[in-house]
Amino acid sequence: MALINLAPETRSFIDRDQKLLIGGKWLDAGTEAQIDVINPADGSRISGIGNASHTDVDHAVVTARAAFESGAWPEMKPGERSRVIHKIADLMEAHAEELAQLETLDNGKPINFARGDVAASIGAFRYYAGWADKIQGTTHTINLPGDHHVYTVKEPVGVVALVVPWNYPLVMAAMKLGPALAAGCTAVLKPAEDTSLSALRLGEIALEAGLPEGVLNIVTGYGHSVGNALVNHPGIDKIAFTGSTATGKIIAHAAAENLTKLTLELGGKSPNIIMPDADLEKAIPASAMGIFFNSGQTCTAPSRIYVHEDVKDEVIKGISDFGKSMKLAPGLDDESTMGPLVSEKQFERVSGYIEAGQKEGAEIASGGVRHGEKGYFLEPTVIDQTNNDMKIVQEEIFGPVLVAQSFKTEAEALALANDTQFGLAGAVWTRDISVAHRMVGKIKAGIMCINSVMGADWDVPLGGYKQSGIGRENGKDGLENYLNTKTVFMAL
Ligand code: NAD
Repeated sequence: MALINLAPETRSFIDRDQKLLIGGKWLDAGTEAQIDVINPADGSRISGIGNASHTDVDHAVVTARAAFESGAWPEMKPGERSRVIHKIADLMEAHAEELAQLETLDNGKPINFARGDVAASIGAFRYYAGWADKIQGTTHTINLPGDHHVYTVKEPVGVVALVVPWNYPLVMAAMKLGPALAAGCTAVLKPAEDTSLSALRLGEIALEAGLPEGVLNIVTGYGHSVGNALVNHPGIDKIAFTGSTATGKIIAHAAAENLTKLTLELGGKSPNIIMPDADLEKAIPASAMGIFFNSGQTCTAPSRIYVHEDVKDEVIKGISDFGKSMKLAPGLDDESTMGPLVSEKQFERVSGYIEAGQKEGAEIASGGVRHGEKGYFLEPTVIDQTNNDMKIVQEEIFGPVLVAQSFKTEAEALALANDTQFGLAGAVWTRDISVAHRMVGKIKAGIMCINSVMGADWDVPLGGYKQSGIGRENGKDGLENYLNTKTVFMAL
């Protein structure tokens, strides 16, 4: 397919075969064969990324360690560190359209959403740039024999491994790199093999912004090889991972070996409860957009809907109609409101769930089939007549697929909502604020929305209960992940 609306700088970036960033230099990967970068809108090859070897991973970690121990970054005046991070954000702003186009080409998402991702990534860098010179310890008077002056110091944890997924590639990298850099850490970033382009461009921008060599290293390649070598490396002080719960468990085992500090942002299957008094004019489009946005590839997507029986038919019809009105088209088409799924593999996986649901007795209310002949487009799908014993209700599908059920009472809705291994997000729609707060208090999830869905922002914490993760990213909590607290006792 001819790539419409592609800026010359985007074209020249994808026309290069990509390398690894280690110690401020762009190096060929030790493993010769490159990994093809596929445009999910049509299945064509648009570029190639390096497939790092174990030696490359070791080189990157050793380089990040040397950069950390040199003090060039952790001991830089905090105000200067802040200035460099702001400069990264400035350059991202200057290249915002190019970054958005790379994200759209690589992930498939509509360009307008990719522009939003770039703005959010810039926001995250600026937010954490603001923290760099506001990191403080505390002073204490404590009950010890003899007089002591006691204070705490916050120190960077050291070398961090940042492993990110393909659904919001740039945002996920920024959410980890922003606080890591503000804290004074050095990093090895491993983008997802399906979507590494925006991270690689970010690497160029970081060098141009004056980030000292070796502070940010980027290794590309597969999770089972490159990611695995990175999280098992004894030179890593902290792992920050976002991805599936299954991979999170593998990484937790790896972290246990060296007792590496770990935060995990994992999968979700978030309940969206529509009470009978809900404002349906708002609830229907928001719930539809919640599950269909980014082709359903959002960890906090409200993917299970529980609708009170009095309003069930109206809500299911409304969401189905909304799905039918979406424009499925390549992301570079300005009018696209839904792009393809990220890869053929993901298309097959999501389609497999739709089939499994039908075999288990669920009914397709709308969608459920491939759209068009090229690329990995799937029609926005609503599946009705489901129950909590079904695989499609219990497992994360990670596609534009909503599973629906009705309920009669508040207690029943809460029991259904909490009957899951996940606990990332949830939503309640009602005009009764007492009901809203009571229900929000009873749902076991890290992010709850009242009369909206999918709340997330870089300045407030994000993370899961249960098997949706360990720890919180974003906000001040996100910064703390990259800091150690040292307590100092001084006899007077
Ligand atoms: P994934 O777990 O397959 O991969 C994520 C990253 O981990 C990729 O970079 C991959 O290469 C790497 N990886 C894979 N196996 C590895 C291993 N053994 N060791 C080290 N690294 C490894 O996940 P995905 O399919 O890319 O992303 C989708 C998942 O991410 C969904 O489950 C989604 O819910 C989750 N997610 C969660 C959040 C959150 O904040 N909770 C945000 C976005 C996505």
